Amino acid sequence: MPAQTPTTPTPDGDVDLAPTRVEAESAARRAADEARAAVVSALRTVIAGDVDSSSRRRAEYSTDASNYRVVPDVVAFPRSSRDVVRGLEVLRELKIPVTARGAGTSVAGNAVGPGVVLDFSRHLNQVVSVDAEAGTAVVEPGTVMSSLQRAGAAHGLRFGPDPSTQNRATLGGMIGNNACGPHAVAYGRTADNVVELDVVDGRGRRFTAGRGDATFAAVPGLAELVRENLALIRTQFGRFGRQVSGYSLEHLLPENGSDLAKALVGTEGTLVTVLGATLRMVPVPTAPTLVVLGYPDMPAAADDVPHLLGHQPLAIEGLDARLVDVVRKAKGEASVPALPDGAGWLMIEVGGASQDEASARAEAIVTSSSALSSLVLPAGPDATKMWQIRADGAGLAGRTPAGEQAWPGWEDSAVPPERLGAYLRDLEQLMERYGVDGLPYGHFGDGCVHLRIDIPMETSGSVLRTFMTDAARLVAYHGGSLSGEHGDGRARSELLPLMYSPEAIRLMEQFKALFDPDDLLNPGVVVRPAAVDADLRRPAAKAVLSTLPVGDRGLVGSGSLRGIAKKAGHSGFSFAHDHHDLTTAVHRCVGVGKCRADNHASGGFMCPSYQATKDEKDVTRGRARVLQEAVNGTLVGGLTAPEVRESLDLCLSCKACSSDCPAGVDMAQYKSEVLHRTYKGKLRPVDHYALGWLPRWARLAGGMPRFVNKVLGVRWIAKAVLWAGGMDTRRQMPQFAEIPFRTWWKRGWASHGVPGLGAGKTPHDRPAGERPKVVLWADSFSDALAPSVPQAAVKVLTEAGYDVVVPDQQACCGLTWISTGQLDGARRRLSQLLSVLGPYAVNGIPILGLEPSCTAVLRSDLLDLFPDDPRAQAVADATRTLAELLTSPETAPAAGSGWEMPDLSDLTAVVQPHCHQHSVMGFDADEALLRAAGAEIKVLAGCCGLAGNFGMQKGHYDVSVAVAENALLPALRERAEGTEYIADGFSCRTQAVQLEGTQGKALVEVIAERLDTAR
Ligand SMILES: Cc1cc2nc3c(=O)[nH]c(=O)nc-3n(C[C@H](O)[C@H](O)[C@H](O)COP(=O)(O)OP(=O)(O)OC[C@H]3O[C@@H](n4cnc5c(N)ncnc54)[C@H](O)[C@@H]3O)c2cc1C
Ligand code: SF4
Ligand code: SF4
Repeated sequence: MPAQTPTTPTPDGDVDLAPTRVEAESAARRAADEARAAVVSALRTVIAGDVDSSSRRRAEYSTDASNYRVVPDVVAFPRSSRDVVRGLEVLRELKIPVTARGAGTSVAGNAVGPGVVLDFSRHLNQVVSVDAEAGTAVVEPGTVMSSLQRAGAAHGLRFGPDPSTQNRATLGGMIGNNACGPHAVAYGRTADNVVELDVVDGRGRRFTAGRGDATFAAVPGLAELVRENLALIRTQFGRFGRQVSGYSLEHLLPENGSDLAKALVGTEGTLVTVLGATLRMVPVPTAPTLVVLGYPDMPAAADDVPHLLGHQPLAIEGLDARLVDVVRKAKGEASVPALPDGAGWLMIEVGGASQDEASARAEAIVTSSSALSSLVLPAGPDATKMWQIRADGAGLAGRTPAGEQAWPGWEDSAVPPERLGAYLRDLEQLMERYGVDGLPYGHFGDGCVHLRIDIPMETSGSVLRTFMTDAARLVAYHGGSLSGEHGDGRARSELLPLMYSPEAIRLMEQFKALFDPDDLLNPGVVVRPAAVDADLRRPAAKAVLSTLPVGDRGLVGSGSLRGIAKKAGHSGFSFAHDHHDLTTAVHRCVGVGKCRADNHASGGFMCPSYQATKDEKDVTRGRARVLQEAVNGTLVGGLTAPEVRESLDLCLSCKACSSDCPAGVDMAQYKSEVLHRTYKGKLRPVDHYALGWLPRWARLAGGMPRFVNKVLGVRWIAKAVLWAGGMDTRRQMPQFAEIPFRTWWKRGWASHGVPGLGAGKTPHDRPAGERPKVVLWADSFSDALAPSVPQAAVKVLTEAGYDVVVPDQQACCGLTWISTGQLDGARRRLSQLLSVLGPYAVNGIPILGLEPSCTAVLRSDLLDLFPDDPRAQAVADATRTLAELLTSPETAPAAGSGWEMPDLSDLTAVVQPHCHQHSVMGFDADEALLRAAGAEIKVLAGCCGLAGNFGMQKGHYDVSVAVAENALLPALRERAEGTEYIADGFSCRTQAVQLEGTQGKALVEVIAERLDTAR
């Protein structure tokens, strides 16, 4: 029996740890800290890049896109190959394990490890050269795949394999995992496209691995090992294209050119560290044409694959109807073009020397298929949309159709294509037996199936273990591979004996020993594996329940749940979509790393702070990792720990992640909750009062606006006020309206009428009672700081035939209280708002929101703060942006109202969607409205950088400017003369004025002006 640790009861009855154990633990902690410090100082003497052992940094690198959590001791960022070689030398001497890392998008736990993590993506990320004549490129290991594609495109070349993570995955990581992607069916895997690798192995030998017997000389014993095992290698390795599990020893065979470079691909950093690579580039295909074939289901689609391969497709992808539905739900109906009939589809790309040739090839595929129906799409918007479904699906498959979290593990198994249909049917049965669900799709031309499954993982990894074992047996039965493109990592290495004979496993161990006898490179992976269910992240996490009072969120919980809520005694978000649990919410981040990518080209905004700093600390994923560590209470000491503050500091609360992250991580909400819990009942940073209470100050200033503006117009006074309020003194104070909108309105519609129409006049003969009512909601910003916007709205709405209602009472959404985490204050304001706007909303009267961030509060945060109040849902449903109001069928101006959108064909404009609008309401309606009216517009993708409080706060100015440089400032600088700047966000207009001297207008102002001109 194990020795019992003596315990001491505390005065309130809890059991305390005995002093001896506490002392032992703190001694162990001290020893670990000292050991870490020694590694850091040893590394710092030899490498120029950063070396970091802070708990925040270790938390950021504690997991990749897998289920695993292995906290490293140190993270280092080499600046050169020399740094890497010298760093590895030191670590070898100290016997410290090392894991190389690119973007960390590995799904099987390949890029996490104990000891030191070397991040290649930060500095070693350049395309060194492209040799168009030889058709090769030389890259550093941290080069992002899409950078290589851009460099190649200038020469009409591309790298063949293209994982869907290509806008953040690095070539080092692709080499590590032998990455593939849709076009591998035409161009092969990464291994097939590697010419030479500059590497250093676990023994410290640096050499160039290439092709031919001579390259074996760098690794004594290798030639003999191959020679002695020819039969074993010939029968068990390289049996079919996607046999990515285990080491790819077939490349070492003489008939395959004794290719050491290719054999090192897919070794997951367990044999060598890659310092550089020479890669084969292929011509960019001409006239790519997409054939979409519809089948009754996925297995039926799979059955058709083998004989379609004869048509030399560039890609054959499988797509399930349920995945398409998920994309439709997440991205809107318009994101999915009309598909041929069926519930499973093949997307087949073909090319040709001309469009005619490609079309003929496409038609031949349609004819020879047994599809129910088909569609041929030449390159163009519909084909792009189809590929986008495939790309979005890769991320969205992280949740089941029912919205439950689906986990990786069995996500890229592969079988020879002729077995694919049968394998899929058996796999479905296996899932049914386990009562689990998932959305299959994948590279069917290669027999590779992607599938994430809602295996219960909240408390233990036991089901994962048994499911994975059964699935591994199944794939082996079909002659397949546990991994078809992601590698084995911690998820599958232990299961390799189900696919390989004991002799083959032994051979892999001997192969490893030639390069890394001390098991220092990525230990626990491929050879001498960690257990499938060891080091799982999710089961280690503890619930952190919503503190919204029980009655308010209708929690039908056990006594202990009620107790926790009651004890907390204050009200944060309900986290209704995450089982009322902050832990479940922060574990939405599965690490796919889309937040690290530059998403601008596809209209994405996420993550502006990372785009500005390129530091994992400032990306949504890094923040989620720190929060995950904070809620599990081990590495980071809770939500109030300094690591959490540091991590969230540069989050702009732009909410872009809430829409752009496929897992729906809403960091702005988590930040608000964390600030709420941290400062509840305590003194807050001064800017929380200055900026968080801005509507309050604005109301006060509204009493004597001229005086306040005059005083704040004196620069030194403004600077002093900014400084005292915790703001950056390079900022300017806003000007308060001399006549706030609501005062203007109250002073009498009858006396001022609609500007331009004359007192008391409206353009309609019908009395107000006969016109449809619209509530014009004057949020605090529009009211006190930009009254010209709601005034313009009065004009436009009246002209459009609405009866404008401006409620008598003030209704503030509490936005600034939310963004500073003053959630009690926010709830008080929203409660008042519900009593003002609720009655209109429940009676079906639309509410027009003008300031996008305030409108977004009514459409999102309000619901999570008042989950059980029917008025909240009614207000959210009734609230519209101007473009939505004017264009959605239920609220658009009635036929016969005489409304005509003014002609904007002489308008050229740079348009900045507010980040909260992008994230919550979307900008499609605005864009469509402007374009339909003839405007020539450039719609920016990316936050303006001010983001409400963020850019004003002390310490944020430089990042705020850097974020503005992502899109806004270059667009303003480069615009042609006469180009207007349209931005509904007060922040976005403020940023443009303060940084570029450009005055912007809200959309409603632009329309109102044209009404004047037209009259
Ligand atoms: C949503 C999603 C979709 C995906 N789709 C695909 C897909 O279509 N096709 C596909 O093949 N993969 C796919 N992947 C898996 C993954 O993105 C790829 O394997 C990618 O190539 C990994 O690159 P990375 O830079 O993130 O590497 P990391 O995850 O950082 O590392 C990968 C492996 O390479 C090793 N490594 C990294 N750098 C070096 C180096 N310099 N020297 C030696 N070893 C090194 C690491 O130790 C690790 O074992 C997907 C992943 C996700 C999350
Ligand atoms: S935050 Fe979202 S996009 Fe970023 S890694 Fe996590 S899941 Fe992926
Ligand atoms: S809210 Fe914006 S800045 Fe913060 S993590 Fe999300 S995308 Fe990044």
